[in-house]
Amino acid sequence: MRIAFLTGAGMSAESGVPTFRDALTGLWSNYDAERLATPDAFRRDPALCWGWYRWRAALVRRAAPNAGHLGIAEFARRGHAVSVVTQNVDDLHERAGSEDVVHLHGSLFASRCLDCGEAMTPDPILDRLDAIDEGTRKTPPPCPRCDGPFRPGVVWFGEALPEDAWDRGCAAVAGCELLVVVGTSGLVQPAASLPLLARERGARVVEINPVDSAVSAIAHERLRMPAAAGIPALLATLD
Ligand SMILES: [Zn+2]
Repeated sequence: MRIAFLTGAGMSAESGVPTFRDALTGLWSNYDAERLATPDAFRRDPALCWGWYRWRAALVRRAAPNAGHLGIAEFARRGHAVSVVTQNVDDLHERAGSEDVVHLHGSLFASRCLDCGEAMTPDPILDRLDAIDEGTRKTPPPCPRCDGPFRPGVVWFGEALPEDAWDRGCAAVAGCELLVVVGTSGLVQPAASLPLLARERGARVVEINPVDSAVSAIAHERLRMPAAAGIPALLATLD
């Protein structure tokens, strides 16, 4: 079966990855998420912004995929054609073994030059990440090509989604027979429009979420449980 998974913050929260606002502690406790996650914030204080995203990347590196991430990869191992479309900026789907992963909101591990878009290998955001205890300010490295500052690879408030990711996400959702929506509020556009797109194209829509969301009303079926329980449960019903 062609299965697409649309995953949001609830998926990663079960691995202990703090949500966007939960992450604002310590050095960053006096800042609003909205004030750190904008192009203006980066221009104003690149070291603060880069340091914050390095801290978030360090937290992600210490987290492990949960039974939900592993279950999604298992669907593919059992012969289903699986696409993962995620709003999350961590790499837990990849580390669980999923191969076709679209990051609608970018990735913590895809930094690039603010000015020319150049990337570096290894990604400079990884530099001594293991040694970070609470996070500190850090000046982002200069681009080897144009000397511009490196920026985190995530989509900031006020920025458009990466066009390629959006196109791939839409194609995966429009072409699936089953869309499983996991741990997302269904409120953040344009990602929130994807469940409706799947339904219009004739796919079955299943929601896995412990609480009601904006997706619930258009889902054919709702599993009121967290991802780590819901995905293995769904896997069992498809066998
Ligand atoms: Zn550059």
